[in-house]
Amino acid sequence: MSSTPVQPKVQVPDIAAQVTYAMRSMGVPPIPRNYELFYEAYIGSNPKLTRELAALGNKATQRELDAIGEQYFGEQHRANLVEGAHTKILSELEGLLRLLKQEQTSLESYNKLLGETFTRINTKNASSADLLRNAISILSDATGDTMAQGAVMVQNVVEKSAEMDLVRKELDEYKRIANTDSLTRLANRRAFDDKLAQIYSEKKHMSLTALVLCDIDHFKKINDSFGHPVGDKILATVGNVIKANVRKDVFVARTGGEEFAIIIEGNTETEALQIAERIRKALEATPFKNSKTGVDYGPVTLSLGVSMACDSEDPNEIYSKSDIALYCAKNSGRNRAMLFEDGMKKDAAKSWLLYRK
Ligand code: GH3
Ligand code: MG
Ligand code: MG
Repeated sequence: MSSTPVQPKVQVPDIAAQVTYAMRSMGVPPIPRNYELFYEAYIGSNPKLTRELAALGNKATQRELDAIGEQYFGEQHRANLVEGAHTKILSELEGLLRLLKQEQTSLESYNKLLGETFTRINTKNASSADLLRNAISILSDATGDTMAQGAVMVQNVVEKSAEMDLVRKELDEYKRIANTDSLTRLANRRAFDDKLAQIYSEKKHMSLTALVLCDIDHFKKINDSFGHPVGDKILATVGNVIKANVRKDVFVARTGGEEFAIIIEGNTETEALQIAERIRKALEATPFKNSKTGVDYGPVTLSLGVSMACDSEDPNEIYSKSDIALYCAKNSGRNRAMLFEDGMKKDAAKSWLLYRK
């Protein structure tokens, strides 16, 4: 038998206990994603996070904690949130199942009792009033018990479904966050990909569905001249201008840095091009002047490429066709909207991809 080597004792600070203690004293719910936040704050890997967390004091709401988590852990934190909600749903379902099983067992024993009572009443020599009284009393007790258990059961199910409703609402909120571009509040690339895939899986009214791709002209110059933060504000305004010039049901997304995509449903090719042109003109006419300094950032313009869903087999093809039309709009002088036509060359698409890098 080999003996285990004796390890020297090392004094390890009990971080877990201290993190838990800090969470408890700040009244923070002891759930994994909060633990992750407090752990990071405790080990001091990110002083800004530590300061922001401390600033919440002992009145931190879950929303505020999640906002910090979102800021510092991004996708991972979001995944943890969804994971947490999923685990919660599972445990709620298990609870419900356990309750239903209990209910089944109690109904089974009630049924057994009824059966026994029936047998006793049916017994040939059991004619006395005593026996009957006895049987009725057993029956009525059993009925009372079953009814009381039923009431508790209903109450439990009501509570469980209320909790599940909360979890569902939480999940809806995370889904909304996961599909939204935080700068413009428009749908993001993920939501856009889903929407385009849905269009080709449902294949409804394809001749009245258009994809418009838009790209801000010379945006790099805007950034270089006025700085990235100004560029960000301009991006948000462009998003607002697009949104303000389409119907409420039109899907608008920011698909990349200074690129937007619009999916118009229920309009012909000519109408889709008119909508693209309306957006282009509206942006061209939008003032971009800093009211404090008087600096004029404008004009800011867009190039747009349009193609119809019925002219493509799948999301990749329609994206590529609208992109070719956009390339042609850029090549023809920018600040214009163009409709995809068969004559537009594939080479153009290639060089547009190169050119976009
Ligand atoms: P073109 O007319 O050919 O489209 O020229 P462009 O300068 O707009 O094109 P290019 O693709 O060369 O530059 C896009 C720029 O967009 C580069 C990048 O700095 C900027 N950009 C991308 N994402 C963001 C962002 O989130 N915020 C800001 N401020 N700028 C961004
Ligand atoms: Mg671009
Ligand atoms: Mg651009």
